[in-house]
Amino acid sequence: MVKLDDIPFSLDAELLMEQLRVQPGTRSAGAFTDLLDRVVQVARPKAVYEVAYVDDKGDDSVVLNGVRFTSRALRRNLDPVERVFAYVVTCGTEADAVSVPEGDMTQALWLWTIKEALVHGAAEYLYGHLATRYQLSHWAAMHPGSGDADVWPIEQQRRLFSLLGDVEALIGVKLTDSMLMVPTMSESGIVFATETDFATCQVCHREDCPRRQAPFDEAVWRTLCAD
Ligand code: SF4
Repeated sequence: MVKLDDIPFSLDAELLMEQLRVQPGTRSAGAFTDLLDRVVQVARPKAVYEVAYVDDKGDDSVVLNGVRFTSRALRRNLDPVERVFAYVVTCGTEADAVSVPEGDMTQALWLWTIKEALVHGAAEYLYGHLATRYQLSHWAAMHPGSGDADVWPIEQQRRLFSLLGDVEALIGVKLTDSMLMVPTMSESGIVFATETDFATCQVCHREDCPRRQAPFDEAVWRTLCAD
Protein backbone atom coordinates (compact mmCIF):
# COMPACT_ATOMS: atom_id res chain seq x y z
CA MET A 1 0.00 0.00 0.00
CA VAL A 2 1.30 3.43 -0.89
CA LYS A 3 -0.04 6.65 0.57
CA LEU A 4 0.40 9.98 -1.16
CA ASP A 5 -0.41 12.69 1.36
CA ASP A 6 1.65 15.53 -0.01
CA ILE A 7 0.03 15.98 -3.41
CA PRO A 8 0.85 19.37 -4.93
CA PHE A 9 -2.07 21.30 -6.39
CA SER A 10 -2.89 24.54 -8.10
CA LEU A 11 -6.35 25.95 -8.58
CA ASP A 12 -6.89 28.26 -11.54
CA ALA A 13 -9.06 31.05 -10.15
CA GLU A 14 -9.76 32.52 -13.58
CA LEU A 15 -10.85 29.21 -15.03
CA LEU A 16 -13.04 28.37 -12.04
CA MET A 17 -14.71 31.79 -12.20
CA GLU A 18 -15.37 31.34 -15.90
CA GLN A 19 -16.84 27.90 -15.22
CA LEU A 20 -19.05 29.35 -12.48
CA ARG A 21 -19.88 32.49 -14.47
CA VAL A 22 -18.49 34.81 -11.83
CA GLN A 23 -17.67 38.15 -13.43
CA PRO A 24 -14.17 39.45 -12.60
CA GLY A 25 -14.14 42.75 -10.74
CA THR A 26 -17.56 42.26 -9.14
CA ARG A 27 -18.40 41.83 -5.46
CA SER A 28 -19.11 38.16 -6.23
CA ALA A 29 -15.60 37.80 -7.61
CA GLY A 30 -14.21 39.13 -4.33
CA ALA A 31 -16.31 36.67 -2.32
CA PHE A 32 -15.24 33.83 -4.60
CA THR A 33 -11.56 34.72 -4.25
CA ASP A 34 -11.91 34.84 -0.46
CA LEU A 35 -13.46 31.38 -0.45
CA LEU A 36 -10.81 30.03 -2.80
CA ASP A 37 -8.07 31.45 -0.55
CA ARG A 38 -9.61 29.77 2.49
CA VAL A 39 -9.59 26.42 0.71
CA VAL A 40 -6.05 26.83 -0.64
CA GLN A 41 -4.73 27.62 2.85
CA VAL A 42 -5.90 24.31 4.32
CA ALA A 43 -6.27 21.87 1.41
CA ARG A 44 -4.31 18.62 1.48
CA PRO A 45 -5.53 16.31 -1.27
CA LYS A 46 -4.40 12.73 -0.75
CA ALA A 47 -4.42 9.31 -2.33
CA VAL A 48 -3.78 5.72 -1.39
CA TYR A 49 -3.22 2.86 -3.78
CA GLU A 50 -2.32 -0.81 -3.79
CA VAL A 51 -0.74 -2.87 -6.51
CA ALA A 52 -3.06 -5.87 -6.97
CA TYR A 53 -2.58 -9.00 -9.03
CA VAL A 54 -5.18 -11.02 -10.87
CA ASP A 55 -5.50 -14.32 -9.00
CA ASP A 56 -8.39 -15.74 -10.98
CA LYS A 57 -10.75 -14.90 -13.82
CA GLY A 58 -14.32 -16.21 -14.06
CA ASP A 59 -16.93 -15.60 -16.74
CA ASP A 60 -18.14 -12.36 -15.19
CA SER A 61 -15.75 -11.91 -12.30
CA VAL A 62 -12.14 -11.38 -11.45
CA VAL A 63 -10.20 -11.99 -8.21
CA LEU A 64 -7.69 -9.30 -7.24
CA ASN A 65 -5.35 -10.00 -4.30
CA GLY A 66 -7.89 -12.55 -3.07
CA VAL A 67 -10.95 -10.31 -3.39
CA ARG A 68 -13.58 -11.23 -5.97
CA PHE A 69 -15.23 -8.50 -8.05
CA THR A 70 -18.25 -9.30 -10.16
CA SER A 71 -18.51 -7.14 -13.25
CA ARG A 72 -18.57 -8.36 -16.81
CA ALA A 73 -17.08 -5.09 -18.06
CA LEU A 74 -14.27 -5.16 -15.50
CA ARG A 75 -13.57 -8.83 -16.26
CA ARG A 76 -13.42 -8.17 -19.99
CA ASN A 77 -11.34 -5.03 -19.60
CA LEU A 78 -8.86 -7.03 -17.54
CA ASP A 79 -8.73 -9.90 -20.02
CA PRO A 80 -5.10 -9.30 -21.03
CA VAL A 81 -4.07 -7.82 -17.68
CA GLU A 82 -2.31 -9.43 -14.72
CA ARG A 83 -1.66 -6.36 -12.57
CA VAL A 84 -3.87 -3.43 -11.59
CA PHE A 85 -3.76 -0.46 -9.22
CA ALA A 86 -6.65 -0.08 -6.77
CA TYR A 87 -6.95 3.45 -5.42
CA VAL A 88 -8.89 6.09 -3.55
CA VAL A 89 -8.12 9.76 -4.03
CA THR A 90 -9.71 12.66 -2.18
CA CYS A 91 -9.88 16.42 -1.91
CA GLY A 92 -9.07 15.76 1.76
CA THR A 93 -10.89 16.29 5.03
CA GLU A 94 -9.22 19.69 5.44
CA ALA A 95 -10.86 21.23 2.36
CA ASP A 96 -14.04 19.36 3.18
CA ALA A 97 -14.19 21.11 6.55
CA VAL A 98 -14.34 24.57 4.95
CA SER A 99 -17.83 25.95 5.36
CA VAL A 100 -19.96 28.61 3.72
CA PRO A 101 -22.87 30.55 5.28
CA GLU A 102 -25.85 28.27 5.84
CA GLY A 103 -28.40 28.54 3.02
CA ASP A 104 -26.00 30.31 0.66
CA MET A 105 -26.49 28.07 -2.35
CA THR A 106 -24.19 30.15 -4.54
CA GLN A 107 -21.21 29.76 -2.23
CA ALA A 108 -22.10 26.11 -1.69
CA LEU A 109 -21.84 25.57 -5.45
CA TRP A 110 -18.53 27.45 -5.57
CA LEU A 111 -17.12 25.31 -2.77
CA TRP A 112 -18.38 22.11 -4.43
CA THR A 113 -16.67 23.14 -7.67
CA ILE A 114 -13.40 24.05 -5.96
CA LYS A 115 -13.29 20.69 -4.17
CA GLU A 116 -14.13 18.92 -7.42
CA ALA A 117 -11.15 20.64 -9.06
CA LEU A 118 -8.99 19.52 -6.14
CA VAL A 119 -9.92 15.86 -6.46
CA HIS A 120 -9.58 15.91 -10.24
CA GLY A 121 -6.12 17.42 -9.91
CA ALA A 122 -5.17 14.84 -7.30
CA ALA A 123 -6.42 12.02 -9.54
CA GLU A 124 -4.32 13.33 -12.41
CA TYR A 125 -1.31 13.47 -10.09
CA LEU A 126 -1.93 9.87 -9.02
CA TYR A 127 -2.26 8.69 -12.63
CA GLY A 128 1.01 10.43 -13.49
CA HIS A 129 2.70 8.87 -10.47
CA LEU A 130 1.53 5.39 -11.48
CA ALA A 131 2.52 5.90 -15.10
CA THR A 132 6.03 6.98 -14.13
CA ARG A 133 6.66 4.52 -11.33
CA TYR A 134 5.22 1.48 -13.10
CA GLN A 135 6.07 2.51 -16.65
CA LEU A 136 2.51 2.52 -17.94
CA SER A 137 2.45 3.94 -21.44
CA HIS A 138 -1.33 3.77 -21.80
CA TRP A 139 -3.93 3.09 -19.14
CA ALA A 140 -7.61 3.41 -18.27
CA ALA A 141 -9.66 3.34 -15.09
CA MET A 142 -12.95 1.90 -13.90
CA HIS A 143 -14.91 3.05 -10.86
CA PRO A 144 -17.55 1.14 -8.84
CA GLY A 145 -20.96 2.70 -9.41
CA SER A 146 -19.87 4.67 -12.45
CA GLY A 147 -21.78 4.24 -15.70
CA ASP A 148 -24.88 2.05 -16.03
CA ALA A 149 -25.79 0.55 -12.64
CA ASP A 150 -24.78 -2.97 -13.66
CA VAL A 151 -21.44 -2.08 -15.29
CA TRP A 152 -19.70 -2.31 -11.92
CA PRO A 153 -22.25 -2.21 -9.08
CA ILE A 154 -21.52 0.37 -6.41
CA GLU A 155 -22.03 -2.32 -3.73
CA GLN A 156 -18.52 -3.52 -4.59
CA GLN A 157 -17.04 -0.30 -3.30
CA ARG A 158 -16.41 -1.96 0.08
CA ARG A 159 -14.45 -4.78 -1.55
CA LEU A 160 -12.32 -2.21 -3.33
CA PHE A 161 -11.68 -0.46 -0.02
CA SER A 162 -10.72 -3.80 1.52
CA LEU A 163 -7.78 -4.01 -0.87
CA LEU A 164 -6.41 -0.79 0.59
CA GLY A 165 -6.61 -1.36 4.34
CA ASP A 166 -8.06 1.26 6.68
CA VAL A 167 -8.73 4.00 4.14
CA GLU A 168 -10.27 6.28 6.74
CA ALA A 169 -7.20 6.08 8.96
CA LEU A 170 -4.89 6.49 5.96
CA ILE A 171 -6.46 9.41 4.09
CA GLY A 172 -9.70 10.23 5.91
CA VAL A 173 -12.17 8.72 3.43
CA LYS A 174 -14.99 6.64 4.87
CA LEU A 175 -17.81 4.71 3.27
CA THR A 176 -21.44 5.24 4.22
CA ASP A 177 -23.90 2.34 4.41
CA SER A 178 -25.05 3.30 0.91
CA MET A 179 -21.45 2.97 -0.33
CA LEU A 180 -20.95 6.69 -0.88
CA MET A 181 -17.64 8.20 0.08
CA VAL A 182 -17.14 10.98 2.63
CA PRO A 183 -15.65 13.44 1.75
CA THR A 184 -17.97 13.35 -1.24
CA MET A 185 -15.22 14.76 -3.41
CA SER A 186 -13.33 11.48 -3.45
CA GLU A 187 -12.85 9.01 -6.23
CA SER A 188 -12.19 5.28 -6.11
CA GLY A 189 -11.26 2.91 -8.86
CA ILE A 190 -8.92 0.52 -10.53
CA VAL A 191 -6.29 1.64 -13.01
CA PHE A 192 -5.10 -0.91 -15.55
CA ALA A 193 -2.76 -0.90 -18.50
CA THR A 194 -4.54 -1.00 -21.85
CA GLU A 195 -3.92 -0.11 -25.45
CA THR A 196 -7.46 1.19 -25.97
CA ASP A 197 -8.97 4.52 -24.99
CA PHE A 198 -11.63 3.15 -22.64
CA ALA A 199 -13.79 5.55 -20.62
CA THR A 200 -16.76 4.45 -18.51
CA CYS A 201 -18.93 7.06 -20.22
CA GLN A 202 -18.71 4.89 -23.36
CA VAL A 203 -20.84 2.25 -21.61
CA CYS A 204 -23.20 4.67 -19.84
CA HIS A 205 -26.67 5.28 -21.28
CA ARG A 206 -27.38 8.36 -19.18
CA GLU A 207 -28.51 11.24 -21.36
CA ASP A 208 -27.72 14.92 -20.78
CA CYS A 209 -24.97 14.22 -18.26
CA PRO A 210 -23.01 17.46 -17.84
CA ARG A 211 -19.90 15.50 -16.87
CA ARG A 212 -19.83 13.12 -19.83
CA GLN A 213 -16.26 12.73 -21.11
CA ALA A 214 -16.92 10.43 -24.05
CA PRO A 215 -20.02 9.65 -26.12
CA PHE A 216 -21.91 6.40 -25.57
CA ASP A 217 -20.33 3.78 -27.84
CA GLU A 218 -22.58 0.91 -28.88
CA ALA A 219 -19.66 -1.19 -30.11
CA VAL A 220 -17.74 -0.82 -26.84
CA TRP A 221 -20.91 -1.56 -24.86
CA ARG A 222 -21.48 -4.76 -26.87
CA THR A 223 -17.88 -5.84 -26.41
CA LEU A 224 -17.77 -5.25 -22.66
CA CYS A 225 -21.33 -5.51 -21.36
CA ALA A 226 -23.53 -7.62 -23.64
CA ASP A 227 -24.19 -11.34 -23.01
S1 SF4 B 1 -21.97 9.87 -18.69
FE1 SF4 B 1 -22.02 10.91 -16.69
S2 SF4 B 1 -22.96 9.43 -15.29
FE2 SF4 B 1 -22.32 8.29 -17.10
S3 SF4 B 1 -20.26 7.53 -16.59
FE3 SF4 B 1 -19.99 9.48 -17.69
S4 SF4 B 1 -19.87 11.03 -16.07
FE4 SF4 B 1 -20.74 9.17 -15.13
